[in-house]
Parts: sequence; C-alpha cells; structure tokens
Amino acid sequence: MATLAWLGLGAMGTPMASRLIDAGHDLRVWNRSPDKAEPFAHRATVAASPSEAAQGTDAVITMLANPDAVTEVVLGGGGALAGMPHDGTLIDMSTVGSDYTTELRSELTDGIALVDAPVLGSVSNAEDGSLKVFVGGSIEIFERWKNTLAPLGKPMHMGPIGAGQAMKLVANSALAGLITLTGETLALADSLGLDEERAIDGLLESPLGPAMTRKLDKITSDNYTPSFKLALMLKDMRLVLDAVDQRDVELKVIPGAEQWVAAANDSGFGDLDYSSVVAKVRGRDARG
Ligand code: NAP
Repeated sequence: MATLAWLGLGAMGTPMASRLIDAGHDLRVWNRSPDKAEPFAHRATVAASPSEAAQGTDAVITMLANPDAVTEVVLGGGGALAGMPHDGTLIDMSTVGSDYTTELRSELTDGIALVDAPVLGSVSNAEDGSLKVFVGGSIEIFERWKNTLAPLGKPMHMGPIGAGQAMKLVANSALAGLITLTGETLALADSLGLDEERAIDGLLESPLGPAMTRKLDKITSDNYTPSFKLALMLKDMRLVLDAVDQRDVELKVIPGAEQWVAAANDSGFGDLDYSSVVAKVRGRDARG
C-alpha cells in the first residue's frame, strides 16, 4: 500500500480520496477551504499545506479545478513540490489540457516523475469507482501506478506524457457536442410545434438517446443541480480551442458548442450542471 498526498477535495476529489482510503492506502489530505477536509479527520492525516501533505509520500495526487489551481498548489509558496521527496511522483488528475502538462513538466525538477491522469465520468462514477482514468506517461510508469489508481475506475494507458490530457479534451468535446446538439434538436422540435414529451420520446430513439438518458431528469424538470459544473465545462472547451489554435485542424461543431456553453455561463448558469446548456439553447430558465 502507498503513502499518498491528496490535494483537492471538491465534488470529485472527495469521493476519489475516500475510495483510496477504503482500498487501504495511507492518505494525507489537503484542501484550500479547510472545511472540506474535516470529514477525513478520522480516516486520514489532514495537512495544513500542500507541502506538508507531500512530505515522505510515494506520490502526490492533485484533483483541482484548473491549470491556475494546479500551478498554485504544486509550485506556489507552501506548494507540494517544496515538500515532495526529490524522486517523488506527481499524478495530476485535474482536467488541464496537454499543453499545460508540458509546461508543468518543464517547471518540475528532474527527479520528479509527472503522470497525467484525468478522468472521464461524473460524481456518481467517482463514488462507485467506475471512472475511466486516461493515463499519460511511459509504459513503465503506467505499470507502476495502475493498481493504485484501480479503485477509482479503469486506468487506460493513452501514450506518453500529455496523452491522458489530450484524450480527456477529445472526450469532453464529445460530451459538449452531444449536449449542445440535444439542446438544438429540442429547440427545433419546440419551433416545429411538437409536443415536448413526444419529441423527447422520439429523440430517445435516435442516436442521441444514450447521451440524453443520463440528463433526462434535469432536462425535463429544468432543475440542473450540478454534478459537473458548466463553468468547468467552459474551462475545458477553452482548453480545446486554445489547443486547436496552435494546430492545423479545422473544426466547426466543437467551437459552436463552446459558444453555447459560454452563452449559458453568461446567463448565470456557471454553477449549474453543464447540461443546463440545453435550457439556454431552448431559451428557458434553469435552476439548481
Ligand atoms: P470542484 O468541486 O469545483 O472542486 C474544485 C477543487 O479545486 C476544490 O478542491 C477547490 O478548492 C480547488 N481549487 C480551485 N481553485 C483553487 C486554487 N486557486 N487553489 C487551490 N485549490 C483550488 O470541481 P470538481 O468537479 O471536483 O472537478 C475537479 C477537476 O476534475 C476539474 O478539473 C474538472 O474539470 C474535472 N472533472 C470533473 C468532473 C465532474 O463531473 N465534476 C468529471 C471529470 C473531471 P475549494 O474547495 O477551496 O474551492
């Protein structure tokens, strides 16, 4: 069993850290807002800073909102890097994009191994250990860490460092595209005068069905209690567009999805579930 620092106890980090404790690992946890670490006091060591959490660990795992948060928590004052053993491992499970992972690698000292391991799935998958973990790094490092990550879900080796993040951007582009298309097809159904219930029944029989099913309760109630916040999806879509800007690829649908997600964020839906973009496209109000 490993000694692990876990940094970031948000909606995803809390159940994920909990599963690693249940699997028998020795966890040192830290969160910026200390109240979220309190429930761990009887099961883990609660550290006062990332650097304190990182001391003497086999690996430091970050599950944070965005690239700025990872920079602050790893490289900032009292950051994890200051406390890590000189030959330690940093496993970043936040969604931050492959370009950021390259930057982060260049900021770390040579002895430190960096693994990118963002996850596909939502809070319920984090709770029951059915996430897909997209791992970037050498095959040796994947073999070294796959059993440690296994209580979280299915570790999948995607290629060299950054490949896990690249896959995560691809997967979230699919997610954003499908939910936006759900919004547009329903808006079209509304405009053609179709009865809503029947239109939804019809769409559930279409190729959109599996994507819609997961969010059906939210779409039919306009209650978008967050599982994956729309503001985080917007962050991911911007990471995608930044990556595309620097590469030779022409996309039209994914940038269109980003525009809808940005418009929903402008309407104040940022703290609601990302599927509230459906309400935005249909010109409806959303709550959560
Ligand atoms: P969340 O509930 O908003 O939690 C974000 C975490 O980041 C919190 O621990 C927060 O600390 C911390 N944080 C934010 N800014 C910080 C800063 N400047 N310095 C230090 N800590 C900071 O988000 P989440 O849903 O757990 O998502 C975490 C990551 O997983 C994101 O990259 C997200 O895109 C990705 N993800 C989410 C889902 C999902 O369904 N939710 C699914 C797959 C991947 P405080 O508690 O102090 O705010």
